[in-house]
Amino acid sequence: MSWLENYDIEVYQRIVEGDRKSRERLNGHGNAIAQVYNHIILPLANQRDKYTQIRWGKEDFRKRFGRDPEGMWLAETAVDYATLEALIDEKISFIILAPTQAERCRPFPSENDDPESEQLEWQEVGGGQIDPTRPYRCFIPDGRYIDIFFYDGPISGDMGFDDVLQSSDFLAGRIGQAVKGDRRQSQLISVATDGETFGHHKKGTEKCIAYACATEFAKRGWTVTNFAHYLSINPPTWEVVLKPVTAWSCSHGVDRWQDDCGCGGGGEWHQKWRRPLRDSLNWLRDELTKVYEDTGRKFFNDPWLARDEYIQVILDRSRDRRSLCPLGNRVDEFLIRHQNHPLSASEKIDALRLLEMQRHALLMFTSCGWFLKNYLVPKAYKSSAMPIAL
Ligand SMILES: [Zn+2]
Repeated sequence: MSWLENYDIEVYQRIVEGDRKSRERLNGHGNAIAQVYNHIILPLANQRDKYTQIRWGKEDFRKRFGRDPEGMWLAETAVDYATLEALIDEKISFIILAPTQAERCRPFPSENDDPESEQLEWQEVGGGQIDPTRPYRCFIPDGRYIDIFFYDGPISGDMGFDDVLQSSDFLAGRIGQAVKGDRRQSQLISVATDGETFGHHKKGTEKCIAYACATEFAKRGWTVTNFAHYLSINPPTWEVVLKPVTAWSCSHGVDRWQDDCGCGGGGEWHQKWRRPLRDSLNWLRDELTKVYEDTGRKFFNDPWLARDEYIQVILDRSRDRRSLCPLGNRVDEFLIRHQNHPLSASEKIDALRLLEMQRHALLMFTSCGWFLKNYLVPKAYKSSAMPIAL
C-alpha cells in the first residue's frame, strides 16, 4: 500500500474509499483485511518478530483505513499454533487459509445432541476435503480461539491458471457449481488468488470481476459480502484442527523458505542454498538482538516496546518545518516518549540507527526472496558459497 500511495495515489484512494463504502453497506464491516507487515513466513519467525510483524501490520492498516482490522492475511497463508496464539493476543478475529491446511473438523454439539452421536465425530479432511462454505472455529491449548475461513481451492486455482475469468457469466457459472443444494440457511463461496492475476497476468480480467460483483451475482440472487460481515451474522458452528505447520504454496510445511524441498524449482534447478541462507539470517538476527538490547538500553526505557511503536515513525517520516529537530517532529515525539534520559543530538542518531537496524532485520526475511526463479541455482553449481540475492 505504501508503494501504491507514492506511485498511484488515485488507485490508492479508491481502495480506501472502497473500504469506507463497504462499511456503510455491510453494517460497519469493511472489505479491507490487514496483513503481516512485510510478508514474512510467521511460523519461521521468532516469537518477538511474530508480534512485531502483526503489530506493525495493524498500525499500517489503521493509518490507511482509520479503523482496527478484524482479519489478517498471512504471508503465503503460513501458519502454526504459535502464530494463532500471537494473532489471538493481538485481537485478530479471523484468518483465511487454504483447504489443504485443515486436518480435521466436527460440528459443535447443541443442547439436544447426543454427545455419543456419530454426527459429532471428528472428520478427517487432511486431503483438502474440508467444506469451505462455512467458517470454522480453531481453539488453541489455553481455550481461546480464532475463526478461520477456507477458500474454495478448485475455483481459486482455475482463476489463477485456467480460463474461468474469460467472462463474468462464465465465472458466475463456475461459482454456481460450488453452491450446495442442501437447504442450509446460508453458505459462503470465497476465493483467494494473487492480486496481480487481475489485469497483469490476465489482461482485462479486472473488468470481469468488477462486473460480476456489481451485476452478475445479484442477477442470480447472491449477496456480495466480506468475511467480517459474514462472520458477524453466521458465527461458526464447526470447529477445526489445523495441521501443525503449513502454507498454501508448499506441500512440505514451510520448507520452501528454509530447505531444498523442490517447490519453486524443477528441471535443472536446486535450492540447496536455502538452509545455509536461513541459518545465516537467523544467526544475524540473534546477533543483532544482542546489539539492540545492550545498546538500546542506554537510550530507551523498553527497547522492544520502542521497536513495536517505531512503525509510527516509519509511516510518517514527514518533517514539520516549524520543528527544530532536523529529523522531523514525529521522530522527536517518538524519542521523547521512549527515551530514558534526554538524548543528545548524536545519541538520537544512534538510537534511530538501532531502530533502522531492527527494521532491516525484519525486512531481510521477506518471503519473496526465497523462491523467485532469479534466485535459484543451477544444479551444476558446485561451490559451497551461496548467492546472496536479497
Ligand atoms: Zn515445498
